[in-house]
Amino acid sequence: MGEQIAEAEAAGADWIHVDAMDGNFVPNISFGQDMVAAARRSTRLPLDVHLMIVEPLKHLESFARAGATRISLHVEAVDSLQTAMQAVRKTGCACGVAINPETPVEALFKDLDDLDYVLVMTVNPGFGGQEFMPETLPKVRALRRRIAECSSHVSLGVDGGINVDTVPLVVAAGADLIVAGSSVYRDDQPVAAGLEQLRRAIIQ
Ligand code: ZN
Repeated sequence: MGEQIAEAEAAGADWIHVDAMDGNFVPNISFGQDMVAAARRSTRLPLDVHLMIVEPLKHLESFARAGATRISLHVEAVDSLQTAMQAVRKTGCACGVAINPETPVEALFKDLDDLDYVLVMTVNPGFGGQEFMPETLPKVRALRRRIAECSSHVSLGVDGGINVDTVPLVVAAGADLIVAGSSVYRDDQPVAAGLEQLRRAIIQ
């Protein structure tokens, strides 16, 4: 894992995004605090930890201690977004909120200004390698409009199914933060090639 992270860093990735899954909020189980700590030892890049877990507030401190620099939790996993955001801030990490495909974006509108970034899930979370859901594009557009209306500085991210075909669509819809997994980490080419292809697809 350290080598793969180093490859992404050398290729110019802006940060490393880590999906923490608990087998409860989503069916799979993935990275926990120890893997985040190992990732921390492998790079100086910011570590963006995406908590796809129930009761995320219980684990903020331990993920921050493990080396997270940015933490996003799901709006669907918390009772109060305000309370959750304050709890993330207390750890010293930047604060993001992820939103599932079926959750209306209006759920985030009133709290947008208190966030550092939003992650619009462009697949149903829980598995890598899924197909991008084009029906999520209007959500990205709606959030971009809202962000412009309130002159907010929040970053607008997308997560899931991002590749050379879908990245131009999300960027045109207003995304300025791109998470990519399977299209960068592939068996048939190095990480640098995957990143370069994505960047080129954005510029075109
Ligand atoms: Zn993620």
